Amino acid sequence: MAVIGSTGSIGMQTLEVARAHPEDFRVLAVTANRQMHKLIDIALEFRPEFVGVRDEEQANAVRAALPYSVEIGYGVEGLITAAAWCGVDLTVNALVGAVGIQPTIVALQSGIDVALANKETLVAAGDLVWEAARAGMSRVIPIDSEHSAIMQCLLGNDLASVAKLILTASGGPFRGHSKERLRTVKVADALAHPTWKMGAKITIDSATMMNKGFEIIEAHHLFHKSYDQIDVVIHPQSVVHSLVYYHDGSMMAQLGTADMRIPIQFALYGGQKRVFAPWPTLDLGALGALHFEQPDRVTFPALDLAYACGRAGGTVPAVMNAANEVAAIAFLEERLSYDAIVDTTVRVLNAHEKVASPTLEQVLEADKWARLTAEEFIIKRGTSL
Ligand code: MG
Repeated sequence: MAVIGSTGSIGMQTLEVARAHPEDFRVLAVTANRQMHKLIDIALEFRPEFVGVRDEEQANAVRAALPYSVEIGYGVEGLITAAAWCGVDLTVNALVGAVGIQPTIVALQSGIDVALANKETLVAAGDLVWEAARAGMSRVIPIDSEHSAIMQCLLGNDLASVAKLILTASGGPFRGHSKERLRTVKVADALAHPTWKMGAKITIDSATMMNKGFEIIEAHHLFHKSYDQIDVVIHPQSVVHSLVYYHDGSMMAQLGTADMRIPIQFALYGGQKRVFAPWPTLDLGALGALHFEQPDRVTFPALDLAYACGRAGGTVPAVMNAANEVAAIAFLEERLSYDAIVDTTVRVLNAHEKVASPTLEQVLEADKWARLTAEEFIIKRGTSL
């Protein structure tokens, strides 16, 4: 396999699964953008044939640190080279953000299955991803816990008998808050996710519920269901990872601990095979009760925004994704208030002229435009913070 984005939360857990099953997995290519010490440790342990880094300077540093001969690349080229490295059967895309689009498409076109944790890829370029998978006769296997759950609930059933896909959402750290109260929240409050331990950007997306918005669009592309057939229910305990509601009245759910190694391992085995794992298991008796409630669509406008952008299609979801990414990072850097994250995204969307059936170039162009426009809005807004 290739692991792009190997030093992040999903990347490290992917390597942990690979480490637990050395007879089944060989890591041939890895990449990282920061955390070079971690990357060097990974290379020393797994001895990949290719290592991708951010720039030339990093490339030289990594080459000097490795005692064996290894091919090194950098930038987007490095990601693409890693994702389609010769001999790779499965590329794990654990990148954060829209930078994951091109490597996914190239891997799929080359006939390599992609285990996808990088949800921005499907949000921004869902149609292009499927074209690439068709062309390469390859598969996209979700790592995201909700989509892994849905994939598992669909096993052995007919997709045509599905009435609804139901995504569960923890509701993030601000569940139950009023819109007013959210105005003054700080970065540390938003980073305190109640159930999942994740990277910083996705944790902010969980706090705004934009993450769930992305997952709605992701589900639409993964399972070919209309937006009317995708629902969200709040489930603060993160035990039921998602459900499928069939038209005979049955509902199937997948349950487990909030441990990403479970969906990662399932994806690494192609979404087909269950292999023993030593991780802690769920104790239903100790858990007692499971709680569900409707999402608060007023306090968390990102949900309906995502439905609207998904339905609009074309370049609109790419713009939503890019503007949100810039705004979420600006919030993390304390350059933007919490409630201005979705606000900024909406303003960028309002200024966008949609391209209906975009090429990859047009998606990337819309992405770039949205980033610049979002940054402009944030700088202008700055003084009023
Ligand atoms: Mg998720």
